[in-house]
Amino acid sequence: MLGKLSGWEDTIVALATPHGIGAIGVIRLSGDNAITIVNQLFPSKDLAQQKSHTIHVGFLKDGDKVLDEVVVSLFKNPRSYTGEDVIEISCHGSPFIQEQVIHTLTKYGARLAKPGEFTQRAFLKGKLDLTQAEAVADLIASNTEASQKTALHNIRGGFSGVLKELREQLIQFSALIELELDFSQEDVEFADRSRFYELIARMQQVTTELLQSFKLGNVIKNGVSVAIVGKPNAGKSTLLNTLLNENRAIVSDIAGTTRDTIEEVLNINGILFRLIDTAGIRESRDVIETIGVEKSIEKMKAADLVVYLFDVNEETQATVEAAYHQIQEHNTNFLLVGNKVDTLTEDVAQEKFSGDAVLFIAAKSKLHIDLLKQRLVDKVVQGTVQTENTIITNARHYTALQEVQKALTDIFNGLNNQLSGDLLALDIRRCLHFLGEITGEITNEDRLDFIFSKFCIGK
Ligand code: GDP
Repeated sequence: MLGKLSGWEDTIVALATPHGIGAIGVIRLSGDNAITIVNQLFPSKDLAQQKSHTIHVGFLKDGDKVLDEVVVSLFKNPRSYTGEDVIEISCHGSPFIQEQVIHTLTKYGARLAKPGEFTQRAFLKGKLDLTQAEAVADLIASNTEASQKTALHNIRGGFSGVLKELREQLIQFSALIELELDFSQEDVEFADRSRFYELIARMQQVTTELLQSFKLGNVIKNGVSVAIVGKPNAGKSTLLNTLLNENRAIVSDIAGTTRDTIEEVLNINGILFRLIDTAGIRESRDVIETIGVEKSIEKMKAADLVVYLFDVNEETQATVEAAYHQIQEHNTNFLLVGNKVDTLTEDVAQEKFSGDAVLFIAAKSKLHIDLLKQRLVDKVVQGTVQTENTIITNARHYTALQEVQKALTDIFNGLNNQLSGDLLALDIRRCLHFLGEITGEITNEDRLDFIFSKFCIGK
């Protein structure tokens, strides 16, 4: 597999820090010639003679021309991120200097790295498995504590650890069953069927839990889209401002979100709530916007969660119920929130709108905003976010796990129906195949290139 990758023997170079002006910029090289190449530009020391994990200060020169005064960090193979010789050059953070240094390095034999190529090499050298490599990309993109924790857990092998153990046990069984096939004339059973049952049952349970965790994984990775809808003057923009004042999230870019509608992002307990079409809310005083209008319907359909906000003075139990039924046609995940409860006493409000279905707040004076936030979180994760558990956040893993689950069901049914060993072996192989696809034990070059192309350059 390794030999097949094009450009695999090249020494690659890329800027590891963001583009633009900064205090320092780090340029990274990896490959067999990393040391030889940098040595030609770094006259003060012979890096080949230096120990791994050391740093060296000196001038970087192209012939007589000084490029910059830099710090060179040396990581010799195999004790580096990629498993190859790695050199990191910290230079001054001017884009001009960085470009010049990279250009000069390419002149002396380095090639510009493709997106994710450093991590791809780490994977191919066995430093990381595929789920760990993917977690590196997730970690870089993480923008809340919850997404950071999940990514770190997976980098440390949390997810693949679980799968590897099950895969190994299944391999053992598969070997025994294949052995039985060799002795098929003699009607022997090497693979203990009752233990096999147990293993399959356990695998089914783990797979089911992992598949279920994807919902939470998605929430952690991509956030939750929320539509605040309601009649004009219900207090939507007041609520928006109240929520944003305390919880506005600083987000650069959220994976998988479209940017065609204006949205604000809240960070509540580590989960990102994306308030969609906030421009619409802010304009709503000019636009006659009722819950029935088309724009609101679109918004409700697109959202993961709908907050229906109403003015407790303006509505009755009957009108709220009517709204309830209308919303339910478009989205079943919603919260009914009665606003301006400061103008009534809470008892009166509760009497007016019977039941626990309605949450009463006063957006302006910030009454019960904490309760609202808790309800929002409860709506998506039911309880606290347990990032210590293994959670899948990756659609590729989800699809492969679904295939694993199908194969397990076939094996299970096969066992029940006393299916012959050769047919059972086919289903087991299929199951192993998809497990191996997740961790990267089974893969092909196109698939790899696709996965790593989603990384940023320099990683
Ligand atoms: P929108 O049209 O739904 O965006 O509603 P606004 O946020 O513009 O609010 C309409 C009016 O209700 C404004 O005069 C707000 O000051 C007022 N308002 C909003 N929230 C509250 C509240 O909790 N209590 C009271 N008494 N007035 C509120």
